[in-house]
Amino acid sequence: MNNEFEKLKAGVENCTKCSLSKSRTKVVFGEGNPEADILLIGEGPGYDEDIKGLPFVGRSGQLLDKILSACGFNRKEHVFIGNIVKCRPPQNRAPLPEERLACVPYLLKQIELINPKIIILLGATALQGLIDPNARISIERGKWKTWNNRLVMPTYHPAALLRNPNLKKDVWEDFKKVVFKYRELVNPKHSSEYL
Ligand code: SF4
Repeated sequence: MNNEFEKLKAGVENCTKCSLSKSRTKVVFGEGNPEADILLIGEGPGYDEDIKGLPFVGRSGQLLDKILSACGFNRKEHVFIGNIVKCRPPQNRAPLPEERLACVPYLLKQIELINPKIIILLGATALQGLIDPNARISIERGKWKTWNNRLVMPTYHPAALLRNPNLKKDVWEDFKKVVFKYRELVNPKHSSEYL
């Protein structure tokens, strides 16, 4: 991890910019390769993430790891995983607009430093928090977008797949597009078990 990324992490870990700082156990800065070509963005930490200080470590995270693995990706090498807010909203509610506004500048700085070629937005909060507050994930998922000269693929959050397994097929279609784009932009020899 380079110095600037470490400095950012240290600053975020002491952040009290919004009221979520009062109820959190640990700040979840993100996890993965800080030089990854793919950045995944979720909503915010849940119960398990808040305790461990790591993103996507509960049931949703296990499902995300399975999807990544089917694509031939893993957390250490190919991706960095972050969230729209870095502290857990109480009772896992969606982050409030003022909490998102306070926290998103950290995410923007992470994007600048990681400089990913592909951003995957997991769920409505990520889509609305980064791109368009009025966008609907059910309409926008699976469609490549360009945002600040970066390619962005919105798809459903893994938690939505746990609630409604019928969505898994759509998410797999979306991740297939990411694998094909990764081969085009990063590594033509990238292999995965299923594609
Ligand atoms: Fe700071 Fe973000 Fe945590 Fe709010 S959610 S206290 S802005 S790190």
